[in-house]
Amino acid sequence: MSPLFGAIEAGGTKFVCAVGTGPADLRDKVRFPTTTPEETLGKTIDYFKQAEVKYGKLDSIGIACFGPVDLNLGSPTYGYITSTPKPGWANVDVVGPLKDAFHIPVGFDTDVNVAGYGEWRYGAAQGLDTFIYLTIGTGIGGGGLVNGKMLHGLVHPEMGHILLPLEAGPNAFTGICPFHGHCFEGLASGPAMKARWGVPAETLPLDHEAWKIEARTISVALTAYIVILSPQRILLGGGVMQQKQLFPAIHQEVRKILNGYVQSPQITEHIADYIVEPGLGTKSGILGAIALAEDTAKQS
Ligand code: ADP
Ligand code: ZN
Repeated sequence: MSPLFGAIEAGGTKFVCAVGTGPADLRDKVRFPTTTPEETLGKTIDYFKQAEVKYGKLDSIGIACFGPVDLNLGSPTYGYITSTPKPGWANVDVVGPLKDAFHIPVGFDTDVNVAGYGEWRYGAAQGLDTFIYLTIGTGIGGGGLVNGKMLHGLVHPEMGHILLPLEAGPNAFTGICPFHGHCFEGLASGPAMKARWGVPAETLPLDHEAWKIEARTISVALTAYIVILSPQRILLGGGVMQQKQLFPAIHQEVRKILNGYVQSPQITEHIADYIVEPGLGTKSGILGAIALAEDTAKQS
């Protein structure tokens, strides 16, 4: 029988669930708002139960989850969302209920690691062994592969929470992160832009100075990742990056900040191919979850 995988993109605002085997075969997809854990995980299980009736038994499930999450296989809370400020979702077991309902292998990682993995398998990061995928949306998060493996380490990266310098002058803004104020997310996420400029980011005109400041803020963060991780490419996704004018501005600014120090033609000559849009559009996460499910099925 041909294999079939379940995929979950578990976000703080919405859940996307799908079944399929890859980009050419994403057979079925639903989305629903993230409410309480009981209701949302219940809907997820119902969806896959119905999908199994329609398409046959699933081999495995892959989950791209908002966090922070516990990825430590030896931990009693492996597969949990841990300390999220999202009401009701702290210390919630995500993997357990799915395992109990389907008795199949379940792969689990951060939303951004899995999105990066999807890009590595099918999108704009194919053939690389070290790269990062960042989402700049409701929050800011980063993940990816380092030396061919999804980056975990102590917990998992929290690239959105690096503290950035405050700008002085009439546009001074102290940031909205409840933990750090002016970290990257606190300064440059969609909600941060809304707090700063008084209107949703998507309604700001193209020539608004907000975009110049946004490009500069993103570039400061990217240069930190470049000098620390030496990624072979940086993929920028998420709602705010729908503003395509940010890309050339970021290319210019990153080069300006690095000031010739990192000597790679990727940066000095081909930066437009170095800091790029995801190749899978908004599907990096869900396709990454399919790929993770496939791997998880093979490993078990
Ligand atoms: P999430 O991060 O919740 O998965 P998104 O990546 O779509 O969802 O991010 C939503 C955020 O991105 C909102 O704060 C919204 O204001 C902002 N956003 C969405 N679309 C655009 C756009 N076209 N231009 C600028 N900002 C946008
Ligand atoms: Zn923060």
